Amino acid sequence: DEPEPSAAPWRTGLPVARRPGCLPEPPWDDPSLGELIVPADELQARIADLGAAIARHYADRPPLLVGVLKGACIFLSDLARAIGLPVEMDFMAISSYGSATRTSGVVRIVKDLDIDLTGRHVLIVEDIVDSGLTLSFLTRNLLARNPASLEVCALLVKEGLQATSLDLAYEGFRIPPEFVVGYGLDVAERFRNLPFICEYRGGDPAGLS
Ligand code: 5GP
Repeated sequence: DEPEPSAAPWRTGLPVARRPGCLPEPPWDDPSLGELIVPADELQARIADLGAAIARHYADRPPLLVGVLKGACIFLSDLARAIGLPVEMDFMAISSYGSATRTSGVVRIVKDLDIDLTGRHVLIVEDIVDSGLTLSFLTRNLLARNPASLEVCALLVKEGLQATSLDLAYEGFRIPPEFVVGYGLDVAERFRNLPFICEYRGGDPAGLS
């Protein structure tokens, strides 16, 4: 009963600041930002659909939402308010070894959950799935804690790059395999508060020394 992903409006060629819904003032006109991948209104519409589908599925067993810091914090905040059920939330922080833009799959827990997962209906809320290695570590780790059920909701999935097979109960948008920022996703802690997702072109973000 999960709704189909809405048509993704990427590759329009228009710079972020020229798209409706994107403010043409700084910092949104930063030259290191490339094409718009998902506009703010599309994000919010899709999150409303995901929230409704999650509420239907978990109606008689309210879920524990597990967010992965820091990237998923904005998505989790909006998603939780779109689920019309009394959900609980907990957060985990992990660090993965690898280059600045790719993970190696070797993951370390920096901050663990506070809540015991035994017998709980757990929904992992992820910002973006690239190789899938981080998610595969997380699902293995959380399954070992004996939850009653474990599902995944990922906002973004990069097309064609997953090294492992994915089992996502809920996904927001398929996007091209490019490095993106905004809506929780950063480069050196910048751009998390952009209300949309866009391509990161590289170079030094304006304002960073
Ligand atoms: P995976 O293990 O699936 O290769 O990578 C997942 C993690 O890498 C995400 O949770 C995110 O922290 C980071 N990541 C992957 N792709 C991107 C991207 O395009 N932009 C940003 N900012 N982070 C990304």
